[in-house]
Amino acid sequence: MSTNGNEMLRLDGIHTYYGKSHILQGISLEVRPHECVAILGRNGAGKTTTLKSIMGLAPPRNGSVYFKGQDIGRRKPYEISRLGIALVPEDRQIFTTLTVAENLNISRQKNRSLGQWDMDRVYEVFPRLAERRNNRGHQLSGGEQQMLTIARALMTNPDLLLLDEPSEGLAPLIVETVLNIIEDIKKEGLTIIIVEQNVEATKVVADRYYILQQGLSVFEGSHEEFWSQPKLKEDFLGV
Ligand code: ATP
Repeated sequence: MSTNGNEMLRLDGIHTYYGKSHILQGISLEVRPHECVAILGRNGAGKTTTLKSIMGLAPPRNGSVYFKGQDIGRRKPYEISRLGIALVPEDRQIFTTLTVAENLNISRQKNRSLGQWDMDRVYEVFPRLAERRNNRGHQLSGGEQQMLTIARALMTNPDLLLLDEPSEGLAPLIVETVLNIIEDIKKEGLTIIIVEQNVEATKVVADRYYILQQGLSVFEGSHEEFWSQPKLKEDFLGV
Protein backbone atom coordinates (compact mmCIF):
# COMPACT_ATOMS: atom_id res chain seq x y z
CA MET A 1 0.00 0.00 0.00
CA SER A 2 1.29 3.51 -0.65
CA THR A 3 0.51 6.76 1.14
CA ASN A 4 -2.41 9.03 0.34
CA GLY A 5 -0.10 12.02 0.60
CA ASN A 6 -1.74 13.65 3.63
CA GLU A 7 0.49 12.25 6.30
CA MET A 8 4.03 12.98 7.38
CA LEU A 9 4.65 9.43 8.54
CA ARG A 10 2.87 6.17 8.01
CA LEU A 11 3.62 2.70 9.33
CA ASP A 12 1.87 -0.06 7.43
CA GLY A 13 1.74 -3.31 9.37
CA ILE A 14 5.34 -3.38 10.52
CA HIS A 15 6.89 -6.49 12.05
CA THR A 16 10.15 -6.01 13.93
CA TYR A 17 12.33 -8.68 15.50
CA TYR A 18 15.32 -8.76 17.83
CA GLY A 19 16.92 -11.99 16.66
CA LYS A 20 14.14 -14.55 16.91
CA SER A 21 11.98 -12.44 19.24
CA HIS A 22 9.00 -11.13 17.32
CA ILE A 23 8.45 -7.74 19.00
CA LEU A 24 6.25 -5.59 16.73
CA GLN A 25 3.49 -7.74 15.32
CA GLY A 26 1.93 -5.60 12.62
CA ILE A 27 1.83 -2.00 13.86
CA SER A 28 0.11 0.55 11.67
CA LEU A 29 -0.07 4.20 12.52
CA GLU A 30 -0.01 7.58 10.89
CA VAL A 31 1.17 11.01 11.85
CA ARG A 32 -0.10 14.11 10.07
CA PRO A 33 1.94 17.27 9.59
CA HIS A 34 2.17 19.53 12.66
CA GLU A 35 0.42 17.14 15.02
CA CYS A 36 1.76 15.55 18.17
CA VAL A 37 1.00 11.86 18.50
CA ALA A 38 1.49 10.08 21.83
CA ILE A 39 2.36 6.39 21.94
CA LEU A 40 1.51 4.82 25.27
CA GLY A 41 1.76 1.31 26.65
CA ARG A 42 3.08 -0.72 29.55
CA ASN A 43 6.74 -1.67 29.96
CA GLY A 44 7.86 -3.83 27.08
CA ALA A 45 4.81 -3.06 24.88
CA GLY A 46 7.08 -2.07 22.00
CA LYS A 47 7.09 1.73 22.17
CA THR A 48 10.85 2.23 21.96
CA THR A 49 11.07 -0.47 19.30
CA THR A 50 8.50 1.44 17.24
CA LEU A 51 10.68 4.56 17.37
CA LYS A 52 13.77 2.50 16.53
CA SER A 53 11.94 0.98 13.56
CA ILE A 54 11.08 4.45 12.24
CA MET A 55 14.67 5.61 12.72
CA GLY A 56 16.18 2.54 11.02
CA LEU A 57 17.87 1.36 14.23
CA ALA A 58 15.64 -1.75 14.38
CA PRO A 59 14.49 -2.04 10.77
CA PRO A 60 11.18 -3.84 10.30
CA ARG A 61 11.40 -7.24 8.63
CA ASN A 62 7.94 -6.86 7.09
CA GLY A 63 5.63 -3.94 6.46
CA SER A 64 6.46 -0.42 5.31
CA VAL A 65 7.55 2.88 6.76
CA TYR A 66 6.64 5.91 4.67
CA PHE A 67 8.03 9.35 5.46
CA LYS A 68 6.64 12.21 3.37
CA GLY A 69 5.48 9.64 0.82
CA GLN A 70 8.85 7.92 0.53
CA ASP A 71 9.45 4.32 1.59
CA ILE A 72 12.28 4.56 4.16
CA GLY A 73 11.93 1.07 5.64
CA ARG A 74 15.29 -0.09 4.30
CA ARG A 75 17.23 3.14 4.82
CA LYS A 76 20.13 3.50 7.23
CA PRO A 77 19.71 5.65 10.37
CA TYR A 78 22.04 8.41 9.07
CA GLU A 79 20.04 8.59 5.83
CA ILE A 80 16.78 8.81 7.75
CA SER A 81 18.27 11.57 9.88
CA ARG A 82 19.21 13.50 6.74
CA LEU A 83 15.70 13.07 5.38
CA GLY A 84 14.42 14.94 8.43
CA ILE A 85 13.66 12.64 11.36
CA ALA A 86 15.42 13.11 14.70
CA LEU A 87 15.30 10.81 17.72
CA VAL A 88 15.66 11.93 21.33
CA PRO A 89 16.62 8.62 22.92
CA GLU A 90 15.55 7.48 26.35
CA ASP A 91 19.14 7.24 27.60
CA ARG A 92 19.99 10.74 26.29
CA GLN A 93 23.41 9.85 24.86
CA ILE A 94 25.00 13.26 25.14
CA PHE A 95 28.79 13.57 24.97
CA THR A 96 29.65 13.97 28.63
CA THR A 97 33.20 15.23 28.10
CA LEU A 98 32.17 17.90 25.60
CA THR A 99 30.60 21.25 26.42
CA VAL A 100 26.98 22.13 25.71
CA ALA A 101 28.07 24.24 22.73
CA GLU A 102 30.23 21.43 21.37
CA ASN A 103 27.41 18.91 21.75
CA LEU A 104 25.13 21.22 19.77
CA ASN A 105 27.72 21.90 17.08
CA ILE A 106 28.19 18.22 16.36
CA SER A 107 24.52 17.90 15.39
CA ARG A 108 24.55 20.67 12.85
CA GLN A 109 23.95 18.99 9.52
CA LYS A 110 25.37 20.84 6.57
CA ASN A 111 22.79 19.61 4.09
CA ARG A 112 19.87 20.69 6.26
CA SER A 113 21.34 23.99 7.46
CA LEU A 114 18.61 26.07 5.83
CA GLY A 115 16.08 25.22 8.54
CA GLN A 116 15.00 27.55 11.32
CA TRP A 117 17.07 25.94 14.09
CA ASP A 118 20.55 27.23 14.73
CA MET A 119 22.58 27.92 17.87
CA ASP A 120 20.93 31.31 18.54
CA ARG A 121 17.40 29.98 18.15
CA VAL A 122 18.15 26.97 20.36
CA TYR A 123 19.57 29.21 23.08
CA GLU A 124 16.42 31.38 22.88
CA VAL A 125 14.18 28.38 23.50
CA PHE A 126 16.55 26.88 26.09
CA PRO A 127 17.94 29.85 28.08
CA ARG A 128 19.29 27.41 30.66
CA LEU A 129 21.54 25.86 28.00
CA ALA A 130 22.76 29.31 26.98
CA GLU A 131 23.85 29.88 30.59
CA ARG A 132 25.55 26.51 30.65
CA ARG A 133 27.06 26.62 27.16
CA ASN A 134 30.64 26.20 28.39
CA ASN A 135 29.85 23.45 30.89
CA ARG A 136 30.57 19.86 30.03
CA GLY A 137 27.84 17.24 29.69
CA HIS A 138 28.71 15.52 32.96
CA GLN A 139 28.31 18.80 34.85
CA LEU A 140 24.65 19.16 33.83
CA SER A 141 21.62 18.13 35.89
CA GLY A 142 19.26 15.46 34.55
CA GLY A 143 16.83 18.14 33.35
CA GLU A 144 19.59 20.08 31.62
CA GLN A 145 20.83 16.89 29.95
CA GLN A 146 17.31 16.21 28.69
CA MET A 147 17.09 19.76 27.33
CA LEU A 148 20.45 19.31 25.62
CA THR A 149 19.29 16.06 24.02
CA ILE A 150 16.18 17.77 22.63
CA ALA A 151 18.17 20.83 21.56
CA ARG A 152 20.71 18.65 19.80
CA ALA A 153 17.94 16.90 17.88
CA LEU A 154 16.52 20.28 16.83
CA MET A 155 19.93 21.34 15.48
CA THR A 156 19.45 18.77 12.70
CA ASN A 157 16.38 20.79 11.64
CA PRO A 158 14.03 17.82 11.58
CA ASP A 159 10.49 17.76 10.22
CA LEU A 160 9.60 14.95 12.60
CA LEU A 161 10.87 14.71 16.18
CA LEU A 162 10.70 11.39 18.05
CA LEU A 163 10.77 11.79 21.84
CA ASP A 164 11.36 8.65 23.91
CA GLU A 165 10.13 9.18 27.48
CA PRO A 166 11.30 12.79 27.86
CA SER A 167 9.94 12.98 31.42
CA GLU A 168 11.78 9.92 32.70
CA GLY A 169 13.81 10.42 35.85
CA LEU A 170 13.03 14.14 36.11
CA ALA A 171 11.56 15.95 39.12
CA PRO A 172 7.96 17.18 38.57
CA LEU A 173 8.96 20.82 38.24
CA ILE A 174 11.58 19.98 35.63
CA VAL A 175 9.09 17.77 33.78
CA GLU A 176 6.87 20.84 33.52
CA THR A 177 9.71 22.94 32.10
CA VAL A 178 10.55 20.27 29.53
CA LEU A 179 6.87 19.92 28.56
CA ASN A 180 6.55 23.69 28.13
CA ILE A 181 9.51 23.55 25.78
CA ILE A 182 7.93 20.70 23.81
CA GLU A 183 4.73 22.76 23.55
CA ASP A 184 6.72 25.74 22.22
CA ILE A 185 8.48 23.53 19.68
CA LYS A 186 5.12 22.17 18.55
CA LYS A 187 3.82 25.72 18.08
CA GLU A 188 6.74 26.29 15.70
CA GLY A 189 5.11 23.70 13.45
CA LEU A 190 7.21 20.64 14.19
CA THR A 191 5.57 17.23 13.94
CA ILE A 192 6.17 15.15 17.06
CA ILE A 193 5.80 11.59 18.31
CA ILE A 194 6.08 11.30 22.08
CA VAL A 195 6.47 7.96 23.84
CA GLU A 196 5.63 8.10 27.54
CA GLN A 197 5.04 5.96 30.62
CA ASN A 198 3.87 9.14 32.34
CA VAL A 199 0.40 9.46 30.78
CA GLU A 200 -0.35 12.80 32.44
CA ALA A 201 2.78 14.29 30.89
CA THR A 202 1.23 13.92 27.42
CA LYS A 203 -2.03 15.69 28.26
CA VAL A 204 -1.03 19.19 27.20
CA VAL A 205 0.91 18.29 24.07
CA ALA A 206 -0.74 15.26 22.43
CA ASP A 207 -3.40 15.66 19.70
CA ARG A 208 -3.89 11.95 19.12
CA TYR A 209 -3.10 8.71 20.92
CA TYR A 210 -2.06 5.16 20.18
CA ILE A 211 -1.85 2.47 22.84
CA LEU A 212 0.42 -0.51 22.26
CA GLN A 213 0.12 -3.88 23.92
CA GLN A 214 2.49 -6.76 23.18
CA GLY A 215 3.59 -5.32 19.88
CA LEU A 216 0.11 -4.47 18.62
CA SER A 217 -1.84 -1.23 18.50
CA VAL A 218 -4.98 -1.72 20.63
CA PHE A 219 -6.32 1.85 20.60
CA GLU A 220 -6.18 4.80 18.26
CA GLY A 221 -8.08 7.96 18.98
CA SER A 222 -8.19 11.71 19.40
CA HIS A 223 -7.19 13.56 22.56
CA GLU A 224 -10.87 13.76 23.55
CA GLU A 225 -11.54 10.08 22.84
CA PHE A 226 -8.58 9.04 24.96
CA TRP A 227 -9.20 11.28 27.95
CA SER A 228 -12.97 10.62 28.05
CA GLN A 229 -12.41 6.87 28.58
CA PRO A 230 -10.61 6.32 31.90
CA LYS A 231 -11.04 2.58 31.42
CA LEU A 232 -8.41 2.67 28.68
CA LYS A 233 -5.85 3.68 31.26
CA GLU A 234 -6.97 0.92 33.64
CA ASP A 235 -7.09 -1.79 30.99
CA PHE A 236 -3.97 -1.04 29.01
CA LEU A 237 -1.73 1.18 31.06
CA GLY A 238 -2.35 0.01 34.62
CA VAL A 239 -2.90 3.55 35.96
P1 ATP B 1 9.83 0.44 28.13
O1 ATP B 1 8.92 1.46 28.64
O2 ATP B 1 10.20 -0.60 29.14
O3 ATP B 1 11.02 0.98 27.40
P2 ATP B 1 8.74 -0.26 25.55
O4 ATP B 1 7.28 -0.29 25.31
O5 ATP B 1 9.51 0.88 25.02
O6 ATP B 1 8.96 -0.42 27.10
P3 ATP B 1 10.54 -1.89 24.05
O7 ATP B 1 11.76 -1.28 24.64
O8 ATP B 1 10.16 -1.54 22.69
O9 ATP B 1 9.30 -1.62 25.00
O10 ATP B 1 10.68 -3.46 24.19
C1 ATP B 1 9.75 -4.39 23.66
C2 ATP B 1 10.20 -5.80 23.95
O11 ATP B 1 11.42 -6.04 23.27
C3 ATP B 1 10.48 -6.09 25.41
O12 ATP B 1 10.01 -7.38 25.69
C4 ATP B 1 11.98 -6.02 25.52
O13 ATP B 1 12.45 -6.89 26.52
C5 ATP B 1 12.42 -6.51 24.15
N1 ATP B 1 13.69 -5.91 23.72
C6 ATP B 1 13.99 -4.60 23.69
N2 ATP B 1 15.23 -4.39 23.20
C7 ATP B 1 15.73 -5.61 22.93
C8 ATP B 1 16.98 -6.08 22.39
N3 ATP B 1 17.95 -5.23 22.03
N4 ATP B 1 17.13 -7.41 22.25
C9 ATP B 1 16.15 -8.29 22.60
N5 ATP B 1 14.96 -7.91 23.09
C10 ATP B 1 14.75 -6.60 23.26
